[in-house]
Amino acid sequence: MKKIDKALLTEMIDAAIKARGQSYSPYSGFAVGAALLSDDGCIHAGCNVENAAYPLGFCAEANAIGNMIISGGRSIRHVVVAGPNEDVCTPCGGCRQQLREFTRADDLPITVCDVDGNVLMETTLFTLLPNSFGPETVNSVREQIEKPDHD
Ligand SMILES: [Zn+2]
Repeated sequence: MKKIDKALLTEMIDAAIKARGQSYSPYSGFAVGAALLSDDGCIHAGCNVENAAYPLGFCAEANAIGNMIISGGRSIRHVVVAGPNEDVCTPCGGCRQQLREFTRADDLPITVCDVDGNVLMETTLFTLLPNSFGPETVNSVREQIEKPDHD
């Protein structure tokens, strides 16, 4: 697991806070911003987008993943989540699984900061989502199907 330097982390925190400022969260008032660093060194931000039909809302992390995908990124090196106050706001269960899809086997650092950008927690995806189900789980079965054993 490769650590990123402080200047890049600061840039990511700024991106997450800026994205948080664009949050559409009129129902909960719980504005969240996220920033992902993809393997090509680009930062992709996202904010939560709520909907009057509550279950249709999207989390900040999910929207940041969408922004990464449209830019061609397929692997995440680091995640920053900026919550709406001084409490620790880790990715929800659904977002942990969505982040897992684009996480390499050596884990994914996650930095959680407060509304002012102060770091509240440094953790990893595999700490938050142990024994997870990921692409290689599916691919191992797919390889068995594609290369059947002809004994
Ligand atoms: Zn979420």
